[in-house]
Amino acid sequence: MLYNEFQGMQLSRLGFGCMRFANDPATGEIDQDKVNKMFDLAISGGVNYFDTAYPYLSGKSELAMAEALKKYPRDSYYIADKFPGHSLPGPVDNIALFNLSLKKCNTDYFDFYLLHNITEWSVKIYESDEYHIIPDILKMKEEGKIRHLGFSFHGGPDLLEEFLDRYEGVFEFVQIQCNYLDWTLQDAKRKYDIITKHGLGVWVMEPCRGGKLAVLPEADSARLKAFDKEASDASYAFRFLLGLPNIKMILSGMNEVAQVEDNLKTFNNYKALSDEEYKTLADIAEGMKKGVPCTQCRYCCDGCPMELDIPYLLSVYNDYKYAASAVSGMRLDGLEENKLPSACIGCGRCSHACPQGIDVPAALQELAKMYAEGPKWANAAKSRHEAIKKDLNMQ
Ligand code: SF4
Ligand code: SF4
Repeated sequence: MLYNEFQGMQLSRLGFGCMRFANDPATGEIDQDKVNKMFDLAISGGVNYFDTAYPYLSGKSELAMAEALKKYPRDSYYIADKFPGHSLPGPVDNIALFNLSLKKCNTDYFDFYLLHNITEWSVKIYESDEYHIIPDILKMKEEGKIRHLGFSFHGGPDLLEEFLDRYEGVFEFVQIQCNYLDWTLQDAKRKYDIITKHGLGVWVMEPCRGGKLAVLPEADSARLKAFDKEASDASYAFRFLLGLPNIKMILSGMNEVAQVEDNLKTFNNYKALSDEEYKTLADIAEGMKKGVPCTQCRYCCDGCPMELDIPYLLSVYNDYKYAASAVSGMRLDGLEENKLPSACIGCGRCSHACPQGIDVPAALQELAKMYAEGPKWANAAKSRHEAIKKDLNMQ
C-alpha cells in the first residue's frame, strides 16, 4: 500500500468510500457480510481510512461502517464523516445531529470531519448566522471530538478561492471531484491548484466518475488494453491521480470484493503513467465530452452586458451534457436570477470574442432549458429533510 504523511499520520492513499455498499437481494438491506469481507480485505491490504456521511445510503452507511470496523482497535484506522448542511430542513440542533453521527459510528471522535457539499447554493446555509453551523462545528473541534476539519466541494473555482481566503487557517483539507475526465470537464485542475496554493491537502472523491471510468466503452477500453492486457480500466483512473503529488487521499466507493482486490493491486504496484498512456487518457476524456470546448480563458467575460460568468455557466452546461444530475442543477441554484443562463440577452458579443468559436448564447439558452426541466436538488433533498426531522424528533 502507498501511504502519505499527513500531520504526523500515515494515511493510506486509497481510502474506502462507504456510499455504495450493495444490498442483499434477499432482505433489501445492506449486505453486511459482504461489507465485512471487503473491509477485512482492505485492512489486511493496508487501507486505514474510511469515509462516510450522515445521508449516505439513507443513513445506513454510518451503521454498516461501524459494524464492519468494530473488531478492530479504534486507533488502527481513521474515520471521516460529514455534516449535512446541504440537506437540512431548516436550522436544527447541529450539535445533536453531530452527536447522533458519533453514536451511529460507535465512536467518541472523528479523525476527519467535513462540511458536506459546499456549493454556490449551500455556502449560504453553511455561513448563515441563523443556521450557526461553522461555530458549532468549530466548538466540536475545540472539544476534541473532531481531530481534522475539512469540507467537500462541488462549486466553481472562484467560490473555492473566496471560501479558502475567508477561512484561512480553519480547514486542513478539501475533498473535490477529480478524475481524468473532470480534470478539464469540471475544472478540477484549477481547484487542485487553488487548494495546493493554500497549502492544504487534496482529497479526491469520484476517482472513476461514479464507475464510468471503471468500465469504458469497448473501443476506449481496447486502447488501454493495448498497453497492458491485464490492467483494468479503473487502474488507469487511479494511476492518473496517483501522479498528482498533492492528492493525499483517493476515495473509492467499493461495493464488490473484486474491486477491492483490483484497487489493492493498483496501489501496491504503482507505476507512473507513461506519456503515451497519459495522452491516451486525455484523448479518451475528450471523446467522452458532449458539450462545448471552452478552455476557461475568460476572453468573453469583459464584454458581456449582463456580466455573466460565462466560463462557469459553460462548465455547468458541459456537466449537464455529459450526465444531467441534481448536482449539476445545484451548481446553478445559488446564483442570483440575473446571473443565471436565462439572463443572457443573446447579444452575441461573447461569441465574437471566443477563440474557440463557441456559440455561447445557444449553449446558455439550452442550459436554461435543461436547468428548468432537469433533476432538482430540492426534490432529492426532501426525503433527507424528513429523515433529519425524524432523527432529531422534530415536528
Ligand atoms: S450573448 Fe449572452 S452571455 Fe454572451 S455577451 Fe451577450 S448577454 Fe453575455
Ligand atoms: S472565450 Fe470562449 S473559450 Fe474562452 S472562456 Fe469564453 S467561451 Fe470559454
